[in-house]
Amino acid sequence: MSIYNAPAQDTAFVLDQLVQFDNLCEAMQLDEVNLELANVIVEEAGRLAAEVLAPLNAEGDAKGTKLNDDKVQEAPGYSEAYQQYMENGWATLTAPEEFGGQALPNVVGTAVNELWHSANMAFALCPMLTQGSIEALIAHGSDELKQAYLPRLVSGEWTGTMNLTEPAAGSDLAAVATKAVPNGDHYLITGQKIYITWGDHQMTPNIVHLVLARLPDAPAGVKGISLFIVPKFLLDENGEPGELNDAKCISLEHKLGIHASPTCTMSFGDNGGAVGYLVGEANRGLAYMFTMMNHARQAVGLQGLSISERAYQQAVWYAKERTQGSRKDGSKIAIIEHPDVRRMLMAQRAGCEAMRGLALIAAAEIDRAHAGEGGSAARVELLTPIVKGWMTEMANELTSLNIQVHGGMGFIEESGAPQHYRDARILAIYEGTNGIQALDLIGRKTLSDEGTALAALLDEMAVVESDLRAAGLDKFANRYAASVARAVEVRQWILENAAANPQVMGAVAFDFLMLMGYLSGAWVMAKSAAAAKGLESEDNPYGAEFLGAKVATARFYAEHYLPRVEQHAQTLMTGLDAAFVLSDEQF
Ligand SMILES: Cc1cc2nc3c(=O)[nH]c(=O)nc-3n(C[C@H](O)[C@H](O)[C@H](O)COP(=O)(O)OP(=O)(O)OC[C@H]3O[C@@H](n4cnc5c(N)ncnc54)[C@H](O)[C@@H]3O)c2cc1C
Repeated sequence: MSIYNAPAQDTAFVLDQLVQFDNLCEAMQLDEVNLELANVIVEEAGRLAAEVLAPLNAEGDAKGTKLNDDKVQEAPGYSEAYQQYMENGWATLTAPEEFGGQALPNVVGTAVNELWHSANMAFALCPMLTQGSIEALIAHGSDELKQAYLPRLVSGEWTGTMNLTEPAAGSDLAAVATKAVPNGDHYLITGQKIYITWGDHQMTPNIVHLVLARLPDAPAGVKGISLFIVPKFLLDENGEPGELNDAKCISLEHKLGIHASPTCTMSFGDNGGAVGYLVGEANRGLAYMFTMMNHARQAVGLQGLSISERAYQQAVWYAKERTQGSRKDGSKIAIIEHPDVRRMLMAQRAGCEAMRGLALIAAAEIDRAHAGEGGSAARVELLTPIVKGWMTEMANELTSLNIQVHGGMGFIEESGAPQHYRDARILAIYEGTNGIQALDLIGRKTLSDEGTALAALLDEMAVVESDLRAAGLDKFANRYAASVARAVEVRQWILENAAANPQVMGAVAFDFLMLMGYLSGAWVMAKSAAAAKGLESEDNPYGAEFLGAKVATARFYAEHYLPRVEQHAQTLMTGLDAAFVLSDEQF
């Protein structure tokens, strides 16, 4: 049994109290957009998520996708669900109006995307990849390419894919070997791409592949990679899908999870070369990919929240249904009453609320950066690896707790609990493994600006201590202030030690990522608790029960998750070279 209800009230609270949504809309000069509208959109999306997408999730997992005669057949019901998603205009939310979009803030798209991924992560990956393709084309495509492809991608009539990975080029995309040879007004692409999400399906009349490839005279390494559009069907003179291009899925991966998301090995150019069109300038492909990375990486972090929320809701449902033990009067005890089960449910709840706050704050920073607000671009850069890395690590832990709440039943596929755990496992791997996120955070985001953006974030975090005290939450304030102070020390330590130990810095980067994740979660929960306390005495739309629960959940976070900041700080500052004592042969 796995019911799903959109957490619309918590989303509304975060948009209102943490994101300051109405101020954001003002900064973006969106006169007709406000919190009320955003809340209606989230509630509407919640209905489609709960009623249409969520019921397909388990069957999609069980039946998966199939490859027949070079065509990938999606799981049962997915095509109909996709039509509904598209016809209701959900694909158009955040895209620019000139291409048929609604130009809503990215943070609204993020709040809605949370729901799709909770309801059915395998399904939601398809629109997620399309959004990535749209962004790449908007930022770097020629007017001609934009006119030909964007309106159909924005409407959802066609879907998009990202073809980066090859057998020898995973984390290291400098090794991309797919070839692109000029041929008149286009290029002929040959090569193989692996692990391509939704690389083929029958839900839409065309699929637009974005492909990284190398021109014949390209320099070696990252500076010789270009980006191409390779449509599944070439467009005819009317711009409609016509002849089949020389690009196809040659096999599907058998995987641990997300079974309803086809993971394709794509072969380009088996019959002479797939027709591709250069996006932007030659040899700038990887740089273009990097401009889209903040959004894509935050989107994967968001999936961590989504799958954790789904698992949490299932755990609560089971904990109320399942009885173990009896009282003296013979009545049965629901397992939700057992303290250890209670601990697990609170850990899931506090983790989800912290992640939701962080995801939406980070998404809104992307909007603020677009609106030209000072400091936001650097903040986006800094928060992105934390959102991606920490939230996806949390997803592994929290979906595992759902299994634990179920006891033996959690290990049994019929309960539905294993699916969320299996589905969550990919999140720490794709879109840059968390090892790569950690290196990004400590290297490009901290050392390369000498800790400036980090110092600004830590300063802003420190201010919340006084909000907690003003709200009468002194114990929370003490713990919180100590953790922020510890992070300030860690920042200093990193800056002082990095030059002497550039190689081993990588060995502690992951602890730094997790430290910043738990601290950022505490920042969100501290702000939430202080805001909730403040609202209690006013007329407010949330009600005493919601606000009281918010404060209690934040307290749980401070007592159960915040101590992990200290643990990671200690490991980081003492554990530098232990990982390198053994030679490779000793393993
Ligand atoms: C289900 C699924 C869907 C995917 N979807 C897509 C898609 O749509 N499009 C696409 O292009 N790709 C996709 N991928 C590919 C995915 O992005 C890569 O698998 C991922 O980037 C890791 O690359 P790799 O598998 O080659 O692992 P490797 O790069 O071989 O990494 C193996 C290990 O080494 C570590 N490592 C590697 N290099 C370094 C380094 N420099 N420093 C520290 N540690 C390092 C990694 O962190 C990891 O722990 C998908 C993968 C899967 C499994």
